Amino acid sequence: MPERIYNFSAGPSTLPEEVLAQAAKDIVNFNNKGMGLIEMSHRSKDFIAVADECEANLRELMKIPANYKVLFLQGGASTQFAMIPMNLLGEGKSATYLNTGVWAKKAIKEAKLFGKVQVAYTSEESTFNHVPKDSDYTVDPASEYLYFVTNNTIYGTQFPAMPKCEKMLIADMSSDILSREFDITPFGIVYAGAQKNMGPAGVTVVIIREDLLDRSPENLPTMFKYKTHADNGSMFNTPPCFSIYVVGLVLKWLKKLGGVAAMEKINKEKAALLYNAIDSSDFYRGHAQPGSRSNMNITFNLPTPELEAQFIKEAAALGMDGLKGHRSVGGCRASIYNAFPKAGVEALVAFMKEFEKKNS
Ligand SMILES: *Cc1c(COP(=O)(O)O)cnc(C)c1O
Repeated sequence: MPERIYNFSAGPSTLPEEVLAQAAKDIVNFNNKGMGLIEMSHRSKDFIAVADECEANLRELMKIPANYKVLFLQGGASTQFAMIPMNLLGEGKSATYLNTGVWAKKAIKEAKLFGKVQVAYTSEESTFNHVPKDSDYTVDPASEYLYFVTNNTIYGTQFPAMPKCEKMLIADMSSDILSREFDITPFGIVYAGAQKNMGPAGVTVVIIREDLLDRSPENLPTMFKYKTHADNGSMFNTPPCFSIYVVGLVLKWLKKLGGVAAMEKINKEKAALLYNAIDSSDFYRGHAQPGSRSNMNITFNLPTPELEAQFIKEAAALGMDGLKGHRSVGGCRASIYNAFPKAGVEALVAFMKEFEKKNS
C-alpha cells in the first residue's frame, strides 16, 4: 500500500497533504509557543489571529460583501436544517423548498416544525437523478425564502446555475462550497459543513445577511439565535478551534492555487475525465441526468451489483478507496472535491477501462 492512497470518500474527505503536514506540526507546538494549537485558549491572541485570518480569506475567496456575517458554528450542517426556520419562520410564515435529495428532505422535515412549507419541486420519483430548471416550479409569493441544496452529495447532481427568483435564496452548499464562483448577493444564508470541501468535521460555516439577524423570535434559546454568534464573533462559547484552524489552512492553500476561479477550472477538468469515461462505454451508466451532473460527486452503475462489488474491491486493493455509493442509491460514487488530485481521477479512469475489458 502506498503511503497515501486516493481517497474518494464523500465526507469527511481527502485534504491537501501540505495542510495535513502543517496541522501535524502545529498540534504539538503552535507558533513556537511551547504548546499545541488545540491546547490554547480560544481567547488567546494567537488563536484570535487564526480565526480572523480564516474569516478574511473566506471573504476574499467568496467575495462576501460587508453586509454579511461569517459564523463558525457547531452541530453540523444538520443543525442548520432547524436553525434556519427557527430563526426565520414562525406563526403564519412560510417558505418554499426544492426536494432534490435526502439532505433537502431532512431540511423540509425540520422546517415544518416552525412554519408552513411549500415543496415546489421534487425529483424523488426518479431517485433524485436531476435538479429542476427555474421554469419547472413556482415560488409562492408569500414565502420568506427559497431553500435548495446546490450539490446533492448522495445522487451526484448539482444545480448548473443558481435559481433565479424574486425571493431571497438560502442554500446548503456543504458539498460544493468554494468549488465554483457564484454571486452571493441574492442569498440570505449560505452554509456548509466543512468536512466535504473545506476542512475537517466539527465546524459549519454560516454566511448570513446582517438584516436577518433581528428577525429571530424572542423566545429562542441563546445558542440557537444567529445574532448571539454574530454579536460575539463566533466566540459566545468555545468554538471548534481545531476545525477552524484547519479550514484556515485549506483556504490559504486554495488562495495559493489561484482562488475559486482556478479551482473551478480544475474541477471541471477532473469531472469531465470521469464523465467521458462513463459516456464512452455501455458498461458504465451515470446516475445523474447530463444537465444536472455534479462536478463533485460522480455517481455511476455497472451492469450488475455483483460487478459493482468486485469493482469497488479491486479498486481498493489498488489504493482507490471510498468508491461505494451511498446506501440509499447503491452503485459507485467517486467524490472528487477540491483537494482530490487529478492524478487520482486519471488512475480511476485507467482502472475503469481495464476492468471493463476484463469483465464485459
Ligand atoms: C453531508 C451533508 C450534510 C450533513 O452534514 P452534517 O455536518 O453531517 O450534518 C448536509 N447537507 C449536505 C449537502 C451534505 O452533503
